[in-house]
Amino acid sequence: AKNNGRNNYCFFSHEMRRSSEEQMMISTHLRHAIAREELSLYYQPKIDIDRSKIIGAEALLRWHSKDLGSISPEIFIPLAEQSGLINDLGNWVLQTACQEAMEWEKRYGEKLHVSVNISPQQFRTGILFEAVENALSLSGLPPERLELEITESLLLQDSDEPLALLRALHENRIRLALDDFGTGYSSLSYLRRFPLQVLKIDRSFISGLTVDQSSCALVDAIIAMAHSLELELVAEGVENENELTFLRQRGVEIIQGYFFSPPLPVEKFRTLLSEKEET
Ligand code: C2E
Ligand code: CA
Ligand code: CA
Ligand code: CA
Repeated sequence: AKNNGRNNYCFFSHEMRRSSEEQMMISTHLRHAIAREELSLYYQPKIDIDRSKIIGAEALLRWHSKDLGSISPEIFIPLAEQSGLINDLGNWVLQTACQEAMEWEKRYGEKLHVSVNISPQQFRTGILFEAVENALSLSGLPPERLELEITESLLLQDSDEPLALLRALHENRIRLALDDFGTGYSSLSYLRRFPLQVLKIDRSFISGLTVDQSSCALVDAIIAMAHSLELELVAEGVENENELTFLRQRGVEIIQGYFFSPPLPVEKFRTLLSEKEET
């Protein structure tokens, strides 16, 4: 779990130094985080650039431990994955996110989709499908407004199980997005095997756009690939106008990143939607 191809350099060194006792302590506290109501979801808007409109949001888990303080998901998600706790956390995230997406519709008439990150471990247990159906029926959210963000490592597994589960979800009209795209071993042929609707270009390429040619070439290749497979493309980690201009010129329509907004606590995200309504 230490290397998911993510570029969080400083975090890596922190985690390496974290002793196993410390990791154990964090896991122990995490076990009670749901019951102690220490978890929350932040929502980061996804923007359609041409229409300057929020079309959806990614739900990102936050943990403020009463004993340990705030702990980054880059630290506690891998621990939850190792300990099996990710299933309980993941189910909580699914339910909370679907309920919140329904609130946006009830309060502001906004039919946004909500994206939820799913760990490969959640596929292994076979309870994911039930958890998704449960979250949808409890909230009343139409399935096409729930998007699951999965990572390339899931698609590379030897087992056929992930593929079968992804197909079942797809048949039930749930949207499937491939997260952190470009950091793994994707090839055109295996992308076609899976019922994906969305590719999210990893932010490491976006931040390279204005500094190196190879990132530009890679992003161009990813855009061409997405277009030929008729996949929706989301650029994540867009932090400035230059990156936005580059992406817009090449026909990328949906962006996510600090340039428009960081992930926001529920109340702030709602405020954003209520302001949109007035203008
Ligand atoms: P991710 O799914 O790739 O999420 C995007 C991360 O990039 C988020 O970090 C977000 O805050 C950050 N980000 C967004 N825009 C920008 C930008 O413009 N610049 C920069 N530098 N960063 C940006 P966060 O919230 O710390 O989450 C880290 C990772 O933890 C996520 O990466 C995801 O893999 C995992 N994670 C978070 N919540 C959940 C969850 O509910 N379930 C699972 N399984 N994983 C989660
Ligand atoms: Ca994600
Ligand atoms: Ca990502
Ligand atoms: Ca990532």
